[in-house]
Amino acid sequence: MNCPGCLKEGHSTYCPRCRKRLFGGTRVSHVLTFSRPVYEEARLAAAGERLSISGIQTKLPLVMREGRLEMTEKGGQYILKPIPHGAFQRWETVPINENLTMQIARQVFGIRVAENALVAFEDGEWAYLVRRFDVQEDGSRHLQEDFAQIAERSEESHGKNYKYDLSYEDIGELIRKHVAAYQVELEKFLHLVVFNYLVHNGDAHIKNFSLIRDEEGGDYTLTPAYDLLNTRLHVPNESRTALPLFKGDFETESHRINGFYAYDDFVELANRLGLHPGRFQRFMHTAVSKESEIFSLIDRSVLTEPCRQLYKDHVSDSIRALSYSYAKTPK
Ligand SMILES: [Zn+2]
Repeated sequence: MNCPGCLKEGHSTYCPRCRKRLFGGTRVSHVLTFSRPVYEEARLAAAGERLSISGIQTKLPLVMREGRLEMTEKGGQYILKPIPHGAFQRWETVPINENLTMQIARQVFGIRVAENALVAFEDGEWAYLVRRFDVQEDGSRHLQEDFAQIAERSEESHGKNYKYDLSYEDIGELIRKHVAAYQVELEKFLHLVVFNYLVHNGDAHIKNFSLIRDEEGGDYTLTPAYDLLNTRLHVPNESRTALPLFKGDFETESHRINGFYAYDDFVELANRLGLHPGRFQRFMHTAVSKESEIFSLIDRSVLTEPCRQLYKDHVSDSIRALSYSYAKTPK
């Protein structure tokens, strides 16, 4: 078995490194002491009066007590995300997909991500566990705002589609406006946008990017990345990106001719946001050279063989797009 956190080989439970990152070094079993049905009962009880079919909360906070992860109604340093209900394809692999995708982001692309792992319910079913980065050891919270809050958009003010109304260029401009050290954060943001494209995360909407304020200086930075998964495994016809790359009607010549985002588009976005062109181009070239490293992590996951193959096909597909430049193709 591999570590259920980082997928490192030769571990029967969390490896020492994951134990440290997730639990401050405490030995915690990767098998929970309750089953999915018991979890469901607690979740329904917690939802109480607020329960409605459209707004079913499937996440529940967990707290670590004496080396055990237990359900809690308030507070909690961890969030448990079990297999979701709903009409998705391969829905039983959602937690595995999310852990794998988060690990690819960190281990292959050096993207800062929320601490995460798989845990198993008592009855063996996998769930995704993530450690909250906005809650400190003493229970106090950092000020965190997602880009819906920053752009002052909500369902009430902008309608049902409010999470998908802006572009990645708009988010980049908001980073420039609100972050003092914006060059560094903009680069991280662009790397994440490219990563999402590479792994077919088609649900990276404005609430899936956030700024957080540190305790001392009061400066804002991007939070660690969260909610990363290959959504094409579950929603095959979803669009490749949740948001358009550019503001308004702008499109590159490459996009106008081919109808999909490719190298030229991401480079144009980086230029518009004022990133160092040479550095960004180097990142693009490195990103498309990572196929075998990504495949090796996919192979270490507990995805079924057909799912692994699909995930790999999706990655190869994106690498082809990200390697293709219309501008550089001889006409
Ligand atoms: Zn590990």
